[in-house]
Amino acid sequence: MSHSTYQHRYIDKSPVELPVGKVVCVGRNYAKHIAELKNETPKEPVLFIKPVSSIVDLDLPLSVPADKGACHFETELAILIGCEKTGQQLPGCDDFIAGYGLGLDLTLRDVQDQLKAERLPWEKAKAFDGACALSRFVKPAAIKDVQNVQLRLTKNGQVRQDGNTGAMLAPVVKLLAHINTYFTLYPGDVVLTGTPEGVGPLESGDQLLVELVGVCSFKTRVK
Ligand code: ZN
Repeated sequence: MSHSTYQHRYIDKSPVELPVGKVVCVGRNYAKHIAELKNETPKEPVLFIKPVSSIVDLDLPLSVPADKGACHFETELAILIGCEKTGQQLPGCDDFIAGYGLGLDLTLRDVQDQLKAERLPWEKAKAFDGACALSRFVKPAAIKDVQNVQLRLTKNGQVRQDGNTGAMLAPVVKLLAHINTYFTLYPGDVVLTGTPEGVGPLESGDQLLVELVGVCSFKTRVK
């Protein structure tokens, strides 16, 4: 039995014939976002995982916890994994990447600040139910150069995030290879590749437009 109604789908809403697996996320992959949160630049990618129970469909209204402080949006390029390949040799198969989409890495920022201060893991801030909103996916061919895609989030008509994947500290191929040395990526897993600057809180009633500019765009709102 499935734990949620979420299923990976292509942009035309047809189902992707892959299971829904883990979501591996990278923190601190854009220099200007590191600066806005006053974090240190890491020597290698900071990784964390969101479980299946955290995944929701970006097309549906978002629920944010009401009683746990600020809940921030982080707009990220999402990569849907299409086949298994262990170790460093990536991409090792033509369909290793099954699609690209958008992910909102929802983050309980006050909870995270407290956990960081106490040097504790981030799960409560990053892996709660509803913490990972995933869009529908475009086929890989829809993006000519994955390191030159503009990610944009517009909240209530105002552009809040507008960053280019060219600014990633660990570019996609390097990042996937690094992840695979710790967490084998299986078909149906998703990688969230970090957020550019401009993160901020979500409030009930917010209207969001999230875009891979020129590729795909999605509208959603906060319940
Ligand atoms: Zn993030």
